[in-house]
Amino acid sequence: MLTQSRIHATGHPTHEVFNQPPPLQDYDVYAADAALVEGVRREGAAWAEDELHAIGMLAGSTQTIAEGFDANRYPPELHTHDRYGHRIDEVTFHPAWHSLLRTAVAHGLHAAPWRDPRPGAHVARAAAFYAWSQAESGHGCPISMTYASIPALRAEPTVAALWEPLLTSLEYDPGLRPASEKRGLLAGMAMTEKQGGSDVRANTTRAEPIGPSEGAGEAYLLTGHKWFCSAPMCDLFLVLAQAPGGLTCFLLPRVLPDGARNAFFIQRLKDKLGNRSNASSEIELDSAYAVRLGEEGRGVRTIVEMVNYTRLDCSPRPPPRCCCAWPAPATAPRPATSARPT
Ligand SMILES: Cc1cc2nc3c(=O)[nH]c(=O)nc-3n(C[C@H](O)[C@H](O)[C@H](O)COP(=O)(O)OP(=O)(O)OC[C@H]3O[C@@H](n4cnc5c(N)ncnc54)[C@H](O)[C@@H]3O)c2cc1C
Repeated sequence: MLTQSRIHATGHPTHEVFNQPPPLQDYDVYAADAALVEGVRREGAAWAEDELHAIGMLAGSTQTIAEGFDANRYPPELHTHDRYGHRIDEVTFHPAWHSLLRTAVAHGLHAAPWRDPRPGAHVARAAAFYAWSQAESGHGCPISMTYASIPALRAEPTVAALWEPLLTSLEYDPGLRPASEKRGLLAGMAMTEKQGGSDVRANTTRAEPIGPSEGAGEAYLLTGHKWFCSAPMCDLFLVLAQAPGGLTCFLLPRVLPDGARNAFFIQRLKDKLGNRSNASSEIELDSAYAVRLGEEGRGVRTIVEMVNYTRLDCSPRPPPRCCCAWPAPATAPRPATSARPT
């Protein structure tokens, strides 16, 4: 009885919390970053500050932070077949992943500068992406790749005219369906092969021309194995393959216009140390339908536009939130008698 009343009076005696900062949540991530605010104003994007405060508040909200934890605690799962044995090649994600992507797309983090290319548009988008990524960075991969796909896609203006409106839509519409049935699309890229990571010229995936496509551009069938293909639930991929004229860039949809799935088989998901919320996969292409982007033999030149934009996104991507938690001041003063390591 005595013990019970002591616990009620003082809490658990060996677990007194006296030198922890309060949780850093429900604050404006953008406003809290003086260097970021100064940079945005200096680089001509002050016009975007209302939106940056909005995304900053969302990034720092308790709900978004919880979604970030859930998206990483419950990582993506690969389902190669349905229960009747048909190949489906789908990856399922926790609802938190979808919620994060929905917010990112609604705020144009994947497309704002292409929708409204005014001066400072890329600065504004980079600042928004920097602030928002502090909540969770894995879902930034398909956001970044979609943003980066547009300049490469524009190598073939007729193809770009078909896909760009949906790639720049502000609606996140997940699921494998033909583009004609979707309100928004996301894009990925598949360059890397086992024998060729940095050196993509060593790629062995083959591309056989089959004539004009039903939409726009020249159609090919791609066969080969890609060692690293992130966000495989994206709707389309920019892929490098060896055409008769050399290494070439292609646009490969996951679902064909008639609703059939393209021959894009996910062999396994990568077991990664970080970036766990995001699925990265090994894929097999077996006469997969694709449309050429740019000239044959100019694949690196075409896709490097996309690579550059994704790499630019990697550099402002901030350290994880745990590293950002230190500025929150401790509420309780440290006891004068506490022992410090010397
Ligand atoms: C989380 C994650 C996601 C990824 N997602 C994708 C994706 O979606 N699509 C995709 O196509 N790829 C993806 N990749 C693969 C990525 O693009 C490759 O890992 C990258 O290109 C490096 O290739 P590699 O791993 O074969 O390393 P290598 O090219 O073998 O390089 C190994 C080492 O050698 C060095 N090196 C290489 N070449 C040179 C050189 N010429 N001079 C000096 N040093 C050199 C490199 O700096 C590195 O330290 C992903 C990788 C990771 C880790």
